[in-house]
Order: sequence, then structure tokens, then C-alpha cells
Amino acid sequence: MRVAFLGVLITVALGCAHASREEAALAEMVPAGSSIFRLEYGPDDVGAATRVKLALQRSASAAEQWGRFSTPVVITIHPTHEAWSASDSEVAQLLTHELTHCAMYQSIASPALWQHRAMPLWFREGMASVTAGQGHKRVAPDAIKRFYWSKETGAGAQAGDPLTDPEPLYASDVDLVYATADKAFRFLLDRHGEARVRLIMASMAKGSDFREAFRNAIGIPVQEFEADFRRSLVTEGQVEDAVLGALPTTPAPLLARGTCQRE
Ligand SMILES: [Zn+2]
Repeated sequence: MRVAFLGVLITVALGCAHASREEAALAEMVPAGSSIFRLEYGPDDVGAATRVKLALQRSASAAEQWGRFSTPVVITIHPTHEAWSASDSEVAQLLTHELTHCAMYQSIASPALWQHRAMPLWFREGMASVTAGQGHKRVAPDAIKRFYWSKETGAGAQAGDPLTDPEPLYASDVDLVYATADKAFRFLLDRHGEARVRLIMASMAKGSDFREAFRNAIGIPVQEFEADFRRSLVTEGQVEDAVLGALPTTPAPLLARGTCQRE
């Protein structure tokens, strides 16, 4: 059921800094999962706050599969001038996505160091997207393959790479970037398992950078994983015949070229 959810924007803050704002006249502490969240909203957004509190019960538990919230999280409902119609499921997805980012960063570093812990976009956005179940919102299954194919053949090739160089694609095709992140993280889970992904963050919490942590936990360099993922795009079964017909007869080496450099 789609319910009008008008005029609000939800933001989630990693920590509890500067909690009070003019429009956030109301605030309450909401237990969810194994944590307690501070929810701030204005008097006109009591209805939205009720929906957020309901969604939070499911979203907090989902996000906590990647780590406990070590620092209180602030969820703020901002009044806006734009209408936003969202189902309860979409509200839960939004919250789960943002809370997954919070759990991920809080599990690898103290608040003072969060901004300095770099991770590839596909890993951090993929984790959030997969945990929130947002893969279905992304582009068609063939879009990622089509991108690499056009890049390989030079036909309408775009700058950047949705997996390893997403910045140039942000303005022109952000959905492709997020779709690739979702798909790559799901590939990581399917191939190496959730426990090893948690090991990546445990290794980062002990001081390793992402590349070192990835190799420690997964057993291969991240570049090798990325090349494996690209190859998987060619061999997966969900590709339409029309696309397969357009691919070269030996596509894997072509698509893998340029992605196998090791650090
Ligand atoms: Zn995100």
C-alpha cells in the first residue's frame, strides 16, 4: 500500500552532534534492534514520525547484521516543500540503507576517524543497497553488461567505470553506478559469505586499510575480485538472448582486459 508521505525528508546522522534545530521541536528516544535512536521532528510531522518509528524496528535489526551501533544515531525528519509519496516498505528501505552506512562506519572506526576510512563505493553503497533490498530499483540486468560491452568495442563508450572509477558516471548515470554496487556486493556475499565480509570490517577496525583488510578476509586482492565480478556478468544466466547475440564469441578475456592489474 502506498501512503502519501508528504513534505518530509529524513536524514540519518552517524553520531549525536548538534542535535537541536529550530524545526525539530520534538525529540524522543526510540529503542530498536539492540540500540536506541534519537528521532527529531517538527509538530507537523507527527504522522511521519510514527511511520519512521515503525520502520525503524525492522531497519535497525537489518543494519546491525554488519555491526553494533557504538554511538547514538540521530534520525531527523525535515519539513520540505516537495511532496514525497512513499510506501511503508520504501520508508523502511531508506532507513535501512542509511542505518547500514552508520553501522558500517561505526564498526570500523571511532567518530574522529570515520571520514578518513576509505572504502570503494561499490562496497559501501552495495552493502547498504543489498541490506535494504533495493536491487530491484536499479537498472535493467543487462545495463551493466552493455556498459562494459560498449566500452570494450568503443561504441558510445563513456568515461569512467561503474565499479572502479564511478565518479565520471555520477552525473550521467548514477543508477548504473548504484546497480553495479548492489550487484557486486551481492556477488561478494554469494561467493565468499557474510562472515568474511564482516572480517573485512574487523580487519579495518584493527587499523588495516580496505585493500589490506579485503585481502586478509577474502584471500584475494580486491582487484582480482573485481575482475571476477566482471567476468561473472558475461556468464550469468539472466542475460537476454539479444544481448548474448551481440557479444563476442569469447567475451570473458575481452571484458576482463584492463581489470586484472594487481597492486
Ligand atoms: Zn548510500
